[in-house]
Amino acid sequence: MENPGSIPDAVGKCPICGAPIVIEGIDACELGDEGHWLPAEVSITCSTEPDVDAADWREWLDGHFSMPYVDWLPLTNRVLSWLRMPAQRERVEAISGPFEESVSLNGDVAG
Ligand SMILES: [Zn+2]
Repeated sequence: MENPGSIPDAVGKCPICGAPIVIEGIDACELGDEGHWLPAEVSITCSTEPDVDAADWREWLDGHFSMPYVDWLPLTNRVLSWLRMPAQRERVEAISGPFEESVSLNGDVAG
């Protein structure tokens, strides 16, 4: 997988400038019916976002996130629905790591 955080144009593009959008992180997961972890909260941003320390970051933020609930909430929900599809399971694990392993007990028997 090239970059697990990249989001196909078909799912959504930046509502402000039309650039590709990217996943910043998966903030919460829930256990689905089939025993797989599903993303419950995701953060997305525009791929043009400058580094937070950059001089133009504040200006970028004002331009891109002046109305986050109008511009970004519907898009965030669309990305979340897409990420919850079984076809995106590998991507979710690539971003968040394999949840199952972190909670399961090690059943290996020595010898
Ligand atoms: Zn943008």
